[in-house]
Amino acid sequence: MDMITASRKMVIFTGAGISTESGIPDFRSPGGLWTNNMPIYFDDFVRSAEMRAEAWRRKFAMEDSFANARPSRGHKAVAHLVRIGRASHVVTQNIDNLHQAAGVGDEQMIELHGNGSFAKCLSCDRRHELDWVRSEFERTEESPNCPACGGHVKSATVSFGQSMPEPEMVRAQEAALACDLFIAIGSSLVVYPAAGFPIMAKKNGATLVILNREETELDAIADLVIHDEIGDVMEPLLGLN
Ligand code: NAD
Repeated sequence: MDMITASRKMVIFTGAGISTESGIPDFRSPGGLWTNNMPIYFDDFVRSAEMRAEAWRRKFAMEDSFANARPSRGHKAVAHLVRIGRASHVVTQNIDNLHQAAGVGDEQMIELHGNGSFAKCLSCDRRHELDWVRSEFERTEESPNCPACGGHVKSATVSFGQSMPEPEMVRAQEAALACDLFIAIGSSLVVYPAAGFPIMAKKNGATLVILNREETELDAIADLVIHDEIGDVMEPLLGLN
């Protein structure tokens, strides 16, 4: 708490663990939807109509738990720290839109792996809503093409083998280098390049705090490691002003 009060420019970095309390399984949950299937690589999505259809089939199978999810105590506390001006940015690996649902605005939000609450055309970048994709998919049993340009329509997330979004990478780097306190919450810190940001901030002189119920890859370099439940630790921060 003292570290947060003392910080003038804090960056909050989140992973799947902040959303488990919202009912979305993290990457490692045994039997979770994420672990049941081999990932579909970006090149396979582009190359194969069958893979595109399979990607949408999986997406809509998971959609109910995503669509009904509400921000956790962790999301609410993070949004509060942004609102009262303690946190300059929220850098997330998550694609579930729950930081925004808790009230974090576009200026503070940096999504490294995209956003699964809508789709985009891979050719013209036009946004498409999931309801439209779903009705087309259910009607034709094929992944729809963009009505404007005919390109492939894909969930607006970053797939394995797909390049990282350049503007978000630049913004995350700037935020990591400008902060005096970097808090990594609910990430196993094994997915790169995302996990490079806590290292970058620490090397640049920021204090690094890691909050996770289990050990992470970067515990050894952190100034403070809290092995606890995210909601329990973050909830009292809602009282900060
Ligand atoms: P991860 O699954 O590798 O790690 C999650 C970490 O959070 C684990 O170390 C776990 O111990 C911890 N954790 C889970 N619930 C917790 C709780 N209530 N309190 C404290 N700790 C808790 O997740 P990652 O590091 O974000 O990497 C997974 C990748 O998969 C990311 O790239 C992400 O894009 C994607 N993913 C996203 C979502 C989502 O959007 N909600 C969900 C699953 C996976």
